[in-house]
Amino acid sequence: LMMLTKKLIEIRSILMSIDHNETLKLPSIVVIGSQSSGKSSVLEAIVGHEFLPKGSNMVTRRPIELTLIHTPNQEEEYGEFPDLGLGKIFDFKKIQKTLVDLNMAVSESECVSDKPIELRVYSPNVPDLTLIDLPGYIQISNRNQPETLKNKIEDLCEKYIRGPNIILAVCSANVDLANSPALKASRKWDPLGLRTIGVITKMDLVPPQVGAAILRNTDYPLHLGYIGVVCKAPENVTDGNMTRALIKSEESYFRSHLIFNQRDIQVGTSTLRHKLMNVLEQSMGKSLYSIVDAVQRELEEARYQFKVQYNDRRVTAESYVAETMDCLKHDFKDFANNFGKPQVRHEVRTMLEQRVLDICAEQYWCDPKIAELPKASSEDIYWLYKVDFASAALTKSGIGRSTTQLVVDVLMNNMERLANAESFSYHPETRNQIMKFTSEILRTKFLATSDQVENTIKPYKFEVEVTDSEWNDGVKRSISLLEKELEMCDEMANSIKNSVGKKKLKSAINYVLDSEKEESRRQERVEDAMYQDEEEEEEVVKSFYNPKLLEKAKDAIYLRDRAMILKYRIAALKSRQCKSSENKQYCPEAFLNVIAEKLTYTAVMFIQVELLNEFFFQFPREVDNRLVYEMDRRQIQQFARENPPIQKHLELQERKMKLEEVMDKLNYLVKRQADRQSSSNNN
Ligand code: GDP
Repeated sequence: LMMLTKKLIEIRSILMSIDHNETLKLPSIVVIGSQSSGKSSVLEAIVGHEFLPKGSNMVTRRPIELTLIHTPNQEEEYGEFPDLGLGKIFDFKKIQKTLVDLNMAVSESECVSDKPIELRVYSPNVPDLTLIDLPGYIQISNRNQPETLKNKIEDLCEKYIRGPNIILAVCSANVDLANSPALKASRKWDPLGLRTIGVITKMDLVPPQVGAAILRNTDYPLHLGYIGVVCKAPENVTDGNMTRALIKSEESYFRSHLIFNQRDIQVGTSTLRHKLMNVLEQSMGKSLYSIVDAVQRELEEARYQFKVQYNDRRVTAESYVAETMDCLKHDFKDFANNFGKPQVRHEVRTMLEQRVLDICAEQYWCDPKIAELPKASSEDIYWLYKVDFASAALTKSGIGRSTTQLVVDVLMNNMERLANAESFSYHPETRNQIMKFTSEILRTKFLATSDQVENTIKPYKFEVEVTDSEWNDGVKRSISLLEKELEMCDEMANSIKNSVGKKKLKSAINYVLDSEKEESRRQERVEDAMYQDEEEEEEVVKSFYNPKLLEKAKDAIYLRDRAMILKYRIAALKSRQCKSSENKQYCPEAFLNVIAEKLTYTAVMFIQVELLNEFFFQFPREVDNRLVYEMDRRQIQQFARENPPIQKHLELQERKMKLEEVMDKLNYLVKRQADRQSSSNNN
């Protein structure tokens, strides 16, 4: 007979794991009572272990959904918190501690929470039951237990004591039943007393006649009656023997008073247990057909939605993870295939050419004597030194580190682009992880690579041999570089001209040039005056130009001068003088360019081997190691559920699956019930 309860309890926990659906409800026993009414003691007597939080201040702040599972052929007794994943807990003191911690996690300000704690107890000594322990009603509010708390507890209890749940109203014998908040609440939601069981605790604290009168319940009749209990365990009993000792002492108490032997009176914890089992069984039995209907409806709806929305296509969290990672590896492969030596060379060359331009600007184009360079004697030590100095500035500028860093930056940018792909938009954590191990890999290669590069370019710091064709290429490249530079100069000059206006700019330029002349003349005068020891009044001419305009005029002058020098240098590079590398001191731009090209080739060769190849090899492996293989089942689920459409898909699929499972179990039960009925009809 008890099969039905057991199976339906199983079904109940599956249904609860789907969602807290109002329509899919199987009855449970809800335990209510005032603080100190003996509620915990009764529950512990049923379970046979001390495991509930106790203490003078209220410790039950969350409902405890307690599922008892009778395991007839096993000796071990243990509890499980399915939501916590702590596994089997054999020590009931530890269960108690966990419950205390979970309760304490509810903040003071929140007082009580309606999020239930799920606890399952497996034991050969418990009946199959589901019980919900609620926070005890408080009578008087005081400073520590404010009025809001009282109301919150009442609201929480009301939520649970609605049908089809069975109400276990715990009242202590030494308190007037008329004052029992548990009975008051039950009468509100079960006015006919059809699904309420009264439990009268502390029967030992009132005279037997008084106790018996309470149990006869003439004042507040309940259909399922009142049961009297004595749940005070005798002292000095070790945990394992609690039930037996308690029941023994309880039995001897009731046996010692004849009045409790009368037929219309129910007493004792064992009687209570049996009563609960029977009542729950009947109630479950009554719910069976309505729940079958409800589950059938829900299942049809879920199947329909699955077809309509997903065309019956199944997904798994695992396949989603695999797809996402494959996508990443695929994109990475594409990138790796397209990013080889030519691309790296382009990046490095561009950087070094810029450096060449900077060196030329600094050392040559700003040199006041630059106009004399083409006419200088080939023995002129000034220009010979200068070209050596400029080439050292290039070769000794930390090429190893800067070229390696450049390539690392380019790689990081590209990896960021890959990690920002749409498939990772829902997975910011994973994106960070990808960037993290990308930079880790690159960091481990960085030093070795930059040292290698620095070592291999070392000879160029002492001597650079140039062939004719290298020289010719260098000349061509530097001409085109300078032409680009000139173009940029012109563009900038034009944009200034356009923004200010040609006339206005011209007059501003003239003003700046005049005042510069004026300034240098004044300077001379001041110097003369110093020698002549006589002072002249300084005359400050206030300009009527606005400072911003003057700034622009100065820029325009600078650009004009720079453009002039550039034109001049381009002409020099195109001249006969620059036809041969022997004259490198006349054509520093070309010479530096040749060096830059040699540096580029050498650097890229080693960066390719030490950095790129290694990185391209290692990255996909790290994706596997750190992302794919590292994830446990929970993380895989979590990852998939970060993606809302996938989460919705998975949820519906899961719901459908669970409902199917429930439906199978229910069908089996229905068939058994029918078989039983027909066999009992035949007899
Ligand atoms: P709760 O606050 O409703 O959970 O009440 P408890 O189960 O913690 O019990 C409150 C107090 O009453 C405790 O000190 C228990 O030892 C005591 N108590 C519980 N049941 C009985 C009983 O049947 N007889 C006696 N004498 N004391 C009891």
